[in-house]
Amino acid sequence: MRPEMLNPLFAETESLEGVGPKLKKPLEKLGLTRVRDLAYHLPDRFVQRHAVADLDEAQVGEQIVVPLTVVEHRASPNSRAPHRVMARDAKGNVCALVYFGKASYTARKLFPPGEKRWIAGKLEQYDQWLQIVHPDHVSENSAGLLGHLVEPVYPLAEGLTQPKVAHLAQQALQRAPELPEWIEPGLLEREKWPAWRDALALAHRGENPAARDRLAYDELLANSLALMLVRADNRKRRGQPLTGDGRLRDKLSLPFPLTGAQRRSISEIEGDLGQTSPMLRLLQGDVGAGKTVVALEAMLIAVEGGAQAAMLAPTEILARQHFDTLRKMAGPTGVNIALLTGRDKGRARESLLMGLVDGSIDIVVGTHAIFQETVSYKNLALVVIDEQHRFGVGQRLMLTQKGRVTPHCLAMTATPIPRTLTLAQYGEMDVSRLDEMPPGRQAIDTRVIAIDRLSDVADGIARHLETGQQAYWVCPMVRGSEHETEDLAAAEARFTSLKARFGDAVVLVHGQLKPELKDAAMERFACGEARLLVATTVIEVGVDVPNATLMVIEQAERFGLAQLHQLRGRVGRGSAKSVCLLLRGEQLSDVGRERLALMRETQDGFRLAEEDLRLRGGGELLGTRQSGDTPFRVADLEQIERLLPMASDDARLLVERDRGLASVRGEAARVLLYLFERDWGVQLLRGG
Ligand code: ADP
Ligand code: MG
Repeated sequence: MRPEMLNPLFAETESLEGVGPKLKKPLEKLGLTRVRDLAYHLPDRFVQRHAVADLDEAQVGEQIVVPLTVVEHRASPNSRAPHRVMARDAKGNVCALVYFGKASYTARKLFPPGEKRWIAGKLEQYDQWLQIVHPDHVSENSAGLLGHLVEPVYPLAEGLTQPKVAHLAQQALQRAPELPEWIEPGLLEREKWPAWRDALALAHRGENPAARDRLAYDELLANSLALMLVRADNRKRRGQPLTGDGRLRDKLSLPFPLTGAQRRSISEIEGDLGQTSPMLRLLQGDVGAGKTVVALEAMLIAVEGGAQAAMLAPTEILARQHFDTLRKMAGPTGVNIALLTGRDKGRARESLLMGLVDGSIDIVVGTHAIFQETVSYKNLALVVIDEQHRFGVGQRLMLTQKGRVTPHCLAMTATPIPRTLTLAQYGEMDVSRLDEMPPGRQAIDTRVIAIDRLSDVADGIARHLETGQQAYWVCPMVRGSEHETEDLAAAEARFTSLKARFGDAVVLVHGQLKPELKDAAMERFACGEARLLVATTVIEVGVDVPNATLMVIEQAERFGLAQLHQLRGRVGRGSAKSVCLLLRGEQLSDVGRERLALMRETQDGFRLAEEDLRLRGGGELLGTRQSGDTPFRVADLEQIERLLPMASDDARLLVERDRGLASVRGEAARVLLYLFERDWGVQLLRGG
């Protein structure tokens, strides 16, 4: 149960003054659903205003607060021209306050001729005239504005304004209670960090590195602590020791010899499976390194040991594909492999569930449907989670509650995480690395091409398809962003134009398609009937079509390095030469340029991950969030690198000294875990 003192923070945003159904939507777009989220919605930066007595003291381009006297209104002569309020400062300098569109109605009310007003805004020059376009604030007295010369600039979504968000953030801060201190007193003193509630208030008020660091540290500590608790809990649990006799693995018909790294990983896994305490292992291997076959071997060990294994995939497409691959490879072993997704209904589903209960199904592959409450197993002893980074640790813990005893867990990820982040994301696991690619892979010929050479690219695709090979065309699409609709439209337009040239050989797949349609399109591509797959980033996750050897990535500069690398990993999977064309837009930032150059230079996922971190870590504005790439919302990459080792040590010490989190500081740490919704960590404590 969440401590009561946190309740005000976990109330819905609608409980705040001014939030109704209309504001709820844009807030949700920013991931702000509760009061807590608003309290942690920290400014990107601050505007510093210069208070001046008259315009002679101000520079053009500067953010100022200045008293002006209204002279007259000059209404706009037509709908496109703005409404101008002519005003004069103490020295007689004239300045126009400019309002476009409907805002002119407000302007009439705000500025009665002859009256004095304090105005905050950016001073600009238009021809020889000084002007302020849409002043940020207008006040009848100086007090209101001079008290707020530093103003936060918040991340916004359509439908939100700075004053609205600022008002909501202030309300959220007022609801924030005093919380007990969870940071070690010595550290707090050494770093001169403010208490939690003060740190929040300060972080909204102005640039304050100490406050920002404290808040980031809290988040890192919560995460480390939760992972430590998972690890400690796992050591105590009883799993089912599995020893395989090799009878099934001997019958496997693999079309290739295993690489050294694959063999090493399998034996590490086999070692873990033989233990009484459940395995908690991460298999980290770049795209195409061959993780699937390692998973298969692990699952066969479980079956040889008389138990069942389950493999979880993040999408239906991927589950289906794993099912096909596993069945093909494991055919000669005679093990019974089944596929279970959310779409299986009725009789087929019933009989499948029976098979899991009576043990006639040895291995089940599926989406999260395989862990629903209605699904029970005869003897589930191993859970494999593919693309682990798509699932949180909390989710994984839920999955492993399925067996009578705790199943062994093998998590797999293709995300080559920089060392700094490995600790943050997988601190509770042992790690096996597939650091060797299967032999015979050719380097992917990567080229950067300007978008205005589109017709050459299309000709290239035509030649490529004529050889009987297939191709991908990737369009950018940022889910949940303001550009989502535009992006989707652009992808659809690209599909239409490619279809005009290549006809039915082209299929389109994107995140908003119904799952049935998506699968149907993917299947047409996988079986070779469709030759060109136009897709948004849904193909990023694990799709394997070795005959697809050309990839075009449109607006490549909009993707992060890690993501480009994942995408490119879809080609170069067979022995044929593969090509990746990175189409770049007209405007290319320095970082964008460097990213594309790095893509051309190397195919080493770990190198790219480190560079990605460097490129995004440096030169970023204060506190810009790297959503999706790290499990953190408050801590930025630089802070993770600097503060995580400390947080991790601190968490380990705390758990060693006070395993049950029962001391005063332990109690405070529990509050912290709830605050950052790492409460699955606390839940483990109760199990004893
Ligand atoms: P990932 O690690 O990205 O999941 P996959 O398991 O999908 O990679 O393997 C990528 C491709 O490499 C597959 O087509 C697979 O059959 C092939 N492969 C896997 N291991 C080997 C190997 N030892 N030698 C040659 N090819 C292999
Ligand atoms: Mg894979």
